[in-house]
Amino acid sequence: MRITRISAYRVELPLREGSYKWSGGKTVTVFDSTVVRVDTDAGLTGWGEVCPLGPFYLPAYATGVRAGIAELGPHLLGENPLELAKLNGRMDAALKGHAYVKSGIDMACWDLLGKATGQPVCVLLGGRYGDDFGLYRAISQESPGEMAAKVAGYRAEGYRRFQLKVGGDPDVDVDRIRAVAAELKPGDRLVADANTGWRMHDALRVVRAVRDVDVYIEQPCPTYEECLTVRRHTDHPFVLDEVIDSVDVLLRGHADRAMDVVNIKISKFGGLTKARQARDLCASLGVAMTLEDSWGGDVVTAAIAHLAHSCPPDVLFTATDFNSYVTVSFAAGAPRRVNGRLAAPTAPGLGVTPRPDVLGDPVVVVG
Ligand code: MG
Repeated sequence: MRITRISAYRVELPLREGSYKWSGGKTVTVFDSTVVRVDTDAGLTGWGEVCPLGPFYLPAYATGVRAGIAELGPHLLGENPLELAKLNGRMDAALKGHAYVKSGIDMACWDLLGKATGQPVCVLLGGRYGDDFGLYRAISQESPGEMAAKVAGYRAEGYRRFQLKVGGDPDVDVDRIRAVAAELKPGDRLVADANTGWRMHDALRVVRAVRDVDVYIEQPCPTYEECLTVRRHTDHPFVLDEVIDSVDVLLRGHADRAMDVVNIKISKFGGLTKARQARDLCASLGVAMTLEDSWGGDVVTAAIAHLAHSCPPDVLFTATDFNSYVTVSFAAGAPRRVNGRLAAPTAPGLGVTPRPDVLGDPVVVVG
C-alpha cells in the first residue's frame, strides 16, 4: 500500500460553555482544528486530527499544522502507511522537530493499519482492557465559588476526576483548591493544574497552604527543574505535563523521582506511535498516566479512546473526551461519554468517519 494524497481540512470547534480559561489569563472560545486525510493506492482512506490549545500553550499553533503538512507531505507520497516506525523515521528525517505537525498523519496511518487488518486500533496498540475507562473533567478558571459550583453538575454527568485550572494568584488558588475540595465525595479525585503559571516561591506557598487537602499538584512551574524543586518540598501526588514531550524526559523524571503521574498528549509526542512508546515505558516503570491530547474533536477523541482503552488500568489515571466540550460533531462513529466513561469504537481502524458536509473543501492537498 502506498500513500497517494494527503489533505488537510480546517474545522472550527466552539466551546459548549463559551470559553475555556487557564493560567495567566489564557483563554480560547473557538478551537481551530485540522482534520488530516491520507489516501492510498489501495482505495483505503485514513483520518487524523491535530488541534493545538491555542498558540500559547505548547510550541504549536493551528496554521502551523497546515503549513507543516504542506512542507512534509511531498516527502511521504509513495511511502507505505502501514509501516509505522519506518514512516515516522521518514517524517523525522524530512522535517526536524514539529512533532505536532506529524501527529495527524501518524494517526491517519494507524487508522489505515486498522482498516487494512480489520482490527480496531486499540487491539493493535496492545489490547482492549475492560468495557470502558474513566474520564476527567477540566474546570475552567473562574472565581473559587464559581468553580466549586460546577462540581456537582459535572459529577451528575458521571465524572469522578476533576482537574482544577489554577496557576493564577496563589492566594486565590489556595481558595480555589479548598472550595472545590469541599465539594468532593468519596471516590472523587482532585488535580490542581497550574499549567506552568506559578513561580517556585508561589508554588511552595500553595502546596504548604493546602497540605491537609487530598489533591494532586500538576505542572506548577514552566521548567522541569523548577517543578522538581517544588516536588521535593511536597508530599502531594505530583503530575508533570507540559515538560513531558519525549522518552528522554520520562527517563530523567523517573531517575529523579520527579513525578507520580505524567500527562501524555498524542500531538505533543508526534502521534500514536510515539505516544504508545511513552505509554508502554511509563507502564513498565509504574508511572501512572493521563492519556489525552492538547485538544480536538471527534477524531482526536477516538484516538485517545484507543490509546487509553489499550492501557493497563492500574496505570491509567484518567483520559479526556474533548468532543463533549465542543458544539460541533464532524464524524460518524465517534465515541461518546456514558456516565463519565468512554470506550474505544469496535469498528476497524479508529472507527470514525468524518462527514464531508461538515469538513467542506480541503485547505491543503498534497499529491
Ligand atoms: Mg495539564
